[in-house]
Amino acid sequence: MVVVGGGYTGMTAAARLAQRGRSVALLEKHELGWGASSRNGGMVHPGFKVGPADLLKRYGDQGRQLYQASVDAFALLEETITTDRIECDYARTGHLHLAYKPRDMEQLEAEARVLAEEWGISARILDRDALAAEIASPVYHGGLLYERSGGLHPAKYFAGLARLAFDRGAHLHDRTPAVALARRRQGGFTVETPRGAIAARDVLLATNGYSDGLVPSIRRRIIPIGSYIIATEPLSDDRARSAIPNRRMLFDSKNFLYYWRLSSDNRMLFGGRASFAPTTIAKARDWLYAAMVRVHPQLAGIMVEHAWGGNVGFTFDRLPHIGRTEGITYALGYCGTGVAMSTYFGQLAADWIAGGEVPGCWQRPFPGLPLYRETPWFLPAVGWYYAALDRL
Ligand SMILES: Cc1cc2nc3c(=O)[nH]c(=O)nc-3n(C[C@H](O)[C@H](O)[C@H](O)COP(=O)(O)OP(=O)(O)OC[C@H]3O[C@@H](n4cnc5c(N)ncnc54)[C@H](O)[C@@H]3O)c2cc1C
Repeated sequence: MVVVGGGYTGMTAAARLAQRGRSVALLEKHELGWGASSRNGGMVHPGFKVGPADLLKRYGDQGRQLYQASVDAFALLEETITTDRIECDYARTGHLHLAYKPRDMEQLEAEARVLAEEWGISARILDRDALAAEIASPVYHGGLLYERSGGLHPAKYFAGLARLAFDRGAHLHDRTPAVALARRRQGGFTVETPRGAIAARDVLLATNGYSDGLVPSIRRRIIPIGSYIIATEPLSDDRARSAIPNRRMLFDSKNFLYYWRLSSDNRMLFGGRASFAPTTIAKARDWLYAAMVRVHPQLAGIMVEHAWGGNVGFTFDRLPHIGRTEGITYALGYCGTGVAMSTYFGQLAADWIAGGEVPGCWQRPFPGLPLYRETPWFLPAVGWYYAALDRL
């Protein structure tokens, strides 16, 4: 069995298959965990880029099952951390979805209703006054507070999964890209790498926002989009408490959203992006710093000590996909909410390869766009449109 991609998806699958006694080789082009799995904001919560009310409207009962899968994914992540004793600074902090414009409150209220009616999940609407107890910011008009969510240290969580896979006997090969895949006449695949070829009965593609031309039919269904984060110097307890008193995970309702939180060592981690135009880490850092101070004026003058970026793997329906193409299993397309879902998909993909089944809600068409192969030529126009919506 060959797993291509050494992030949460690939590592969870490798650990699971090795536990089932399969011989597993995981191939990672760079260092293990080099992709989004060590670069993300560490926010873990149920849900997708498409909100629960829209899921129901678009997909009916299938949408109901999809959201339930995201609830299960969150539970699986918490269970994995506890059962496998992964030390990753995980805390069940809850999170807030914040209304950037007054009319975004209507959408959040609809979500609260749907969550309660369809899944029995209680999420609380906070108006502007109630919000003051959660976040000291002049920018937002209210928010939706979920208690069943939390935050972790992304690289520590990844290291825990890698340790698990290694201890169970998976062979982990860093700096080993899969450069070609060919079907063997006697069944299975030959996976070519610069260090030699591997014969495998099954192949799992777990490359998300870093998918290259290895499987072209997947590459043209994934849109890699950069997202950026700054980390400030550690804040004093008083300053941290004055900004986010209950240490919630936070993100807002813009298309070009901000997402932010306190780390366990009291740094403010503030993420987002300004547009789909190519940018540099230095430009993203300056833009994010200005955005952070707009949201939290009390942080003006705080030093930014780190800045980085990574690829989010978007899909045309803004939902993740697990499936098979030409006999190759793939699990990817988390659209920026993948910490819990990639753990879930890694496990689901492993169980499917071992002979299990994938629930019907995931057996959905995986849309592409005519003429899109490698360069997302449509992004500038789409970005301009979303930025205009955010300004209206
Ligand atoms: C800046 C940022 C912030 C984010 N914040 C959050 C958040 O707060 N909460 C949340 O839920 N999600 C967040 N996400 C999304 C989340 O990080 C991802 O969904 C998740 O990490 C995906 O894991 P993965 O294993 O599928 O992919 P990745 O971790 O990206 O791993 C894919 C790997 O495949 C490798 N690869 C590609 N091609 C080949 C090849 N041919 N051969 C071998 N290896 C190959 C790449 O090198 C890469 O390491 C964020 C993402 C980014 C970029």
